Amino acid sequence: MPEGHTIHALADRLERAFRSHRIEAMSPQGRFAADAEHLDGQVLERAQAWGKHLFVEIGAVTLHVHLGLIGQFAVKPLGGMPLPSPVGAVRLRLVGPEHWADLRGPMICTLVDRARQREIISTLGPDPLRRAQRTEAAMARITKSRKGIGELLMDQSVVAGVGNVYRCEVLHRIAVDPFTPGRELDPTTWQQIWQDLVLLMPLGRTFSQIITMPDQVAAASRARRSGRSREITRRLTGERLGDTFERRFLVYKRTGEACPRCGAPVRDTQVSGRTLYWCPACQVRH
Ligand SMILES: [Zn+2]
Repeated sequence: MPEGHTIHALADRLERAFRSHRIEAMSPQGRFAADAEHLDGQVLERAQAWGKHLFVEIGAVTLHVHLGLIGQFAVKPLGGMPLPSPVGAVRLRLVGPEHWADLRGPMICTLVDRARQREIISTLGPDPLRRAQRTEAAMARITKSRKGIGELLMDQSVVAGVGNVYRCEVLHRIAVDPFTPGRELDPTTWQQIWQDLVLLMPLGRTFSQIITMPDQVAAASRARRSGRSREITRRLTGERLGDTFERRFLVYKRTGEACPRCGAPVRDTQVSGRTLYWCPACQVRH
C-alpha cells in the first residue's frame, strides 16, 4: 500500500501540473461520470495530503482520494503530443494545459465539501510530512494502549501516513521492540520515533522511494539539501517507485538474513494482517 510519502508526492505533482489552471475532467470508465462533470471546467486551487488521504480542491468542491492497495494516480506531461486514449479502467482523467493525469483503482474517490474534508482530517493523527504537527495527542493515545508500538504506528488515528515499511524500519533504527505495549513506551523513545519519521519521510517524498539505510539516508539528505534532487523529483510521474537508490532495507522482507546491527537473524510475524519484520536480539523494550 502506498505510504504517506507517496500521497504527498502526488499532491506536489498535481499542484505543479494543474494549480490555478482550468481543468477538463472525465471518467473514461464511467463510474465517476456524474461527479467528473462537476469538476469539468473548474480551476484546480490546491492539492494536499493528510497521511494517506489526498484532497484536491477544484472549484467549490474537494476531490477526496485514497489509493488503497492498488490505486495509482499518474501525472504526466503532454509534451506537445495528442492526449493518449485511456488504457484499462480509468476512474478519473484530469487534463490541463500541459499535463494529464489518470486515476485507476482507488479505494476511495469521491467529492466532499470542506466541512466533510475537515471531519476526515480530524480522525487522523499527526502527519510527519506536515509542518507544525502536535504530537502530544499521539503520545496520549499511545500511553493509553496495551497494543504494541508496532501495531499502534500503523493506526492512522495515532500517526497518519506510516505504513508497513516505515513502521518496521523505524523501529529497527531506534532499536525498539515492536511488541512494547504503548503504555510502557518511554516518551523519549516516542520522540525519537517521531523525529526519525520526520527525517525519513521527506526523503521518501522527494525520491518516491522509501530510504532508511544510514548510508542512503546520508546521501539522500545531502542531495536534498543541495537542491540536486529537484530534477529527479520533477521527472517522477508516480507510475512506479523511484529507483534512484538501490532498494535495500534494514529488516523489511529480510526474514532469516543477518540483522545489520547485531547479526542475529531477522524474524517476521503477522500483526493485524500485515507482516512485521524485526530483530528480536537488538530491538528491546524502552
Ligand atoms: Zn539486531
